Amino acid sequence: MRHQLLSFLIASLLAAPTFAQEADAQSDIDAAARAVQKDVVAWRRDIHQHPELGNHEVRTAKLVADQLRKLGLQVKTGIAHTGVVAVLKGGRPGPRIALRADMDALPVTEQTGLPFASKVKTTYRGQDVGVMHACGHDAHVAILLGVATALASRKATLPGEVMFVFQPSEEGPPNAGENFGAKLMLDQGVFRDFKPDAVFGLHVWAGLPVGQVGVRSGPMLAAADEWSLTVRGAQTHGSRPWDGVDPITVAAQILLGTQSLIARQVNVAASPAVLTAGQFNAGVRFNIIPDEAKLVGTLRTFDAAQREDIIARFRRTAEDFARASGATATLDVAANAPATVNDPALTARVRPSLQRAAGEANVIEMPLVTVAEDFAQFANAVPGVYFFVGSTAKGTDPTKAPINHSPQFLLDEQSLDVGVRAMLHVALDYLGAK
Ligand SMILES: [Zn+2]
Ligand SMILES: [Zn+2]
Repeated sequence: MRHQLLSFLIASLLAAPTFAQEADAQSDIDAAARAVQKDVVAWRRDIHQHPELGNHEVRTAKLVADQLRKLGLQVKTGIAHTGVVAVLKGGRPGPRIALRADMDALPVTEQTGLPFASKVKTTYRGQDVGVMHACGHDAHVAILLGVATALASRKATLPGEVMFVFQPSEEGPPNAGENFGAKLMLDQGVFRDFKPDAVFGLHVWAGLPVGQVGVRSGPMLAAADEWSLTVRGAQTHGSRPWDGVDPITVAAQILLGTQSLIARQVNVAASPAVLTAGQFNAGVRFNIIPDEAKLVGTLRTFDAAQREDIIARFRRTAEDFARASGATATLDVAANAPATVNDPALTARVRPSLQRAAGEANVIEMPLVTVAEDFAQFANAVPGVYFFVGSTAKGTDPTKAPINHSPQFLLDEQSLDVGVRAMLHVALDYLGAK
């Protein structure tokens, strides 16, 4: 018995990596991350100074493609307008993964005062605007280039295959009628020729301090729908409303009705929902009741069935309020992004990798976040995990720091290193690299 126990102990010691081996692997990954650190910072500053709106990331895509070619990778460009994809084939058999970064900037005029701040200007839907990497996608591109460089340097011993996906237009197209990047890349077959077993993505996030990584199993980011409601009445003199049908009053009733709908008809304890109107347009003059009123807004949900249910109730609310006043209402809903749902089994597998990268205490459980991400499209195609990388400098309260999309959004560059190490640990652990 004693002999059996002893041989079992010896066998387990031989099979499992020793503490020293694990520590070696850890310092090996950290060394790989350190080796690309300077380049990552330089790429990020370069891209930050030259931001481009969605579907127009020409310079950024060229920088990415040039860099990937330098690593000896076969590079495909021009996917979904400006998307870039490359596959690294490891020297040993293993699983296939995809790592994704988004490349687009926002119509925001930068106010950070950084020496490499953007001075780029453009017109956006008829308005003169600045262009800024106010969401930190400059960091995402630089981080993924750093990860690609580090992984390519260990190609010979790397198990499996890694696809690097550089996606355009995550924020949505600058011109109406164009596509979001992830959906179009999938429609154009990025996961057809190379079907990954898992996809991973990250986002720098001002709501967390630098050093922290946030993740959540199951739904993490909301589904975003863009809705548009048109109420048609009958135009008349402002002094004689009984001669016509006032669409402004009806639209106002519908808007308040939607808020009662969320508060009284939706099980917000099961899954929260937000319904917001961002535009309310009607009329041309103080004493004319117009023909038409238009409301445009967004719906955020975390559960697909609940989303369907709310849209049906919204339509009923709109049509019935309109009918009550002799008006008509038409609701159009465009799905911009589904909810980003982290695969629970994959999240459980990835969490220790994130803890090794950032330190156990620095990996926090994210609450639900009502912003949306079209990474969800990739994560709906194959199991995916998406995580946040804190980007607010130590000494600044992350709850008060200008959030992503603000003209003052300021990224602590140490988050680049955290991002590279996190993605490297996730990728190498999943691939089974020793
Ligand atoms: Zn954004
Ligand atoms: Zn973003």
